Amino acid sequence: MPQDEQRVAIVTGAARGIGAATARRLASDGLAVAVLDLDADACKATVEAIASAGGRALAVGADVSQSNQVQAAVETVAAELGPPAVLVNNAGVIRDNMLFKMSEDDWDTVLGVHLRGAFLMTKAAQKYMVEARFGRVVNLSSSSALGNRGQANYSAAKAGMQGLTKTLAIELGPFGITANAVAPGFIVTDMTASTAARVGMGFEDFQAAAAGQIPVRRVGQVDDVAHTISFLASEGAGFVSGQVIYVAGGPLC
Ligand code: NAP
Repeated sequence: MPQDEQRVAIVTGAARGIGAATARRLASDGLAVAVLDLDADACKATVEAIASAGGRALAVGADVSQSNQVQAAVETVAAELGPPAVLVNNAGVIRDNMLFKMSEDDWDTVLGVHLRGAFLMTKAAQKYMVEARFGRVVNLSSSSALGNRGQANYSAAKAGMQGLTKTLAIELGPFGITANAVAPGFIVTDMTASTAARVGMGFEDFQAAAAGQIPVRRVGQVDDVAHTISFLASEGAGFVSGQVIYVAGGPLC
């Protein structure tokens, strides 16, 4: 890549939470960042934070589970920022319930956003990476991939992300593209706040209870995850591929 060319990253679900922190971090690493979320207006704060720190960012609205929207979004990014070299498949939703009460809609929605979304986004972005003979795909899995009560849909999607990642690593590796998954444990975001609300606990108490079970005795912050993604997206991580890195304050198995 010529030295004056700026690489472009797409981060999905980047209006808030882990995605917003990752977008800010990749921008501070020197990438131009497409901040993609369901509603382009919701991306404004992340884009402004990047711009006011001297970076380059673009708000893009798309539902990652809809192929026509994904195709249009990736083409917009390529036209307005440049061909995507880094893709972080982070967009996510939860629809927790015990299996016997879980609706088909809740199953389809969760599998649709996480797994179908990552499939569609990667399929659309990889052609630019193959052309450039360089790419970094980072997929958000979760410690729930190992099984979690009330999350049959989410756990299946997050385990699926790991299988998808390993296959992407095999198929895209010959073109200079790596694919890895980051599997966070408990991270303080709106998602964990909604889980606390669902089980009827205050968020502070919920965090304290979780921290007690984690070897480093604290819950995770969005920057813990963004830091790991930054490493996997970096030029120097080119020999790390097909891996799942748990960002969970301790070993999980
Ligand atoms: P979050 O705060 O709920 O943010 C998720 C973002 O994804 C939201 O901005 C949401 O938009 C967006 N989104 C949802 N559906 C979308 C779609 N179809 N297309 C585009 N964007 C969509 O979640 P988070 O906690 O930061 O989690 C980020 C990722 O990390 C998820 O994949 C999650 O499963 C994973 N993760 C989180 C934790 C944790 O402890 N927080 C642990 C393990 C893994 P709206 O606001 O419009 O819904």
